[in-house]
Amino acid sequence: MKTYISIWPPLAPEAPFPRRLAVLGSTGSIGVSALRVVDEHPELFKIVALTGGKNAKLLAEQAARHRPAVLAVLDEAAAKALRALLPSGYAPEILVGPTAFEAIAASPEADMVLSAIVGAAGFLPTLAAAKKGKRIALANKESLVIGGRLIRQACRASGAVILPVDSEHNALFQALCGHADKDNGAGPELARLILTASGGPFRGRDKKFLAAATPEQALNHPNWSMGAKISVDSASLMNKGLEIIEACHLYGLPVERVDVLVHPQSIVHSLAEYVDGSQLAHLGVPDMRIPIAHCLCFPRRVTLGMPRLDLAQVGSLTFEKPDETLFPCLRLAKEAFAASPSHPAVLNAANEAAVELFLQKRITFMDIPLLIEGALSRHSALPEDAGAADLLAVDAETRRSVIDCAGAGLS
Ligand code: NAD
Ligand code: MG
Repeated sequence: MKTYISIWPPLAPEAPFPRRLAVLGSTGSIGVSALRVVDEHPELFKIVALTGGKNAKLLAEQAARHRPAVLAVLDEAAAKALRALLPSGYAPEILVGPTAFEAIAASPEADMVLSAIVGAAGFLPTLAAAKKGKRIALANKESLVIGGRLIRQACRASGAVILPVDSEHNALFQALCGHADKDNGAGPELARLILTASGGPFRGRDKKFLAAATPEQALNHPNWSMGAKISVDSASLMNKGLEIIEACHLYGLPVERVDVLVHPQSIVHSLAEYVDGSQLAHLGVPDMRIPIAHCLCFPRRVTLGMPRLDLAQVGSLTFEKPDETLFPCLRLAKEAFAASPSHPAVLNAANEAAVELFLQKRITFMDIPLLIEGALSRHSALPEDAGAADLLAVDAETRRSVIDCAGAGLS
């Protein structure tokens, strides 16, 4: 399907300010950074809803500050704790459970949705926002990995637009603006996309080190401060694998035209290469407030209270090829995307289950790609017309099989 879903200036009339914003996953790393942007420019936003998983304390603090009419949490215990922590005189509606996030994403109260829940739990809320024609600032890359085709179709039908928060895809969005073609996405003059990767905390390590790597070491990212799941994904390079699939969906390119370049300084956030050999890059300090603010305010640019990039101080920028033998997740992601539209859902679910097992110290770091490869090899592609429920059934079945395999010694 040759469509893309990022928006381009001709398709993006400036949405009015203040923007009525729902933040899904406001208590996470991206959510907190987004609210810092909002705090710096309160006149540009009205927060209509905030959601968290189980962190009632932080959600209560955020809610007391921004006073949205609706909040949502994962379970009754978190809702009870939240209610008790809210200031007197402020009684928002508190929704509970997975369907609450979808309801908020689809609510007419919000014209913009920041999708920043972690993992597959973000898929249905993103799809709900896409079906309702929202402006979606998308951090939850897993949504596109699981159901990129469904989300693209929903955006086309409803007129919803996706602005990529993920720093690499946001960099590409900026590098591609002005070279867009309404019907052909990034256009025929685009030769390839180059996603940069920091290489994570295990860059340059050998097989022996990786075999004994601990969750504490995996969570210690050199450049970015992020949630636990994406930090482990960065260590295994699965994050870059998911991002290849995300880029293919956003910019309508086949997987062969999306390359990865390891760039340990995380200053160049990705590059677009044109047929004449020009490469356009986006540079900036590694702070997610930059891509978040770009999406939330697009096409307006706003000041951010952080030091600007000083290249003289950075001194040198280096680049190298990724080691796909030591980090097989990159290859697995490309193979999954090429195999069928449902294989990426298996890749994602197997990865989420394996990362969870690794964080619980029940498997080793090197078991993560083995479990994913096993799950992919057991999967038979779903029919072309598979819907969200079918993909989520595959997701659940994959998680069960990965846990079983891990329990049985990966056999
Ligand atoms: P995080 O773990 O810090 O936060 C996740 C948020 O989702 C929290 O608010 C949490 O309470 C909520 N949550 C967790 N499980 C939930 C569930 N089952 N249902 C509803 N809410 C749930 O994660 P993060 O690092 O902020 O990442 C969020 C998303 O953004 C991920 O998809 C990640 O890949 C993407 N992303 C993050 C970064 C980053 O710098 N952190 C960069 C690019 C993309
Ligand atoms: Mg990224």
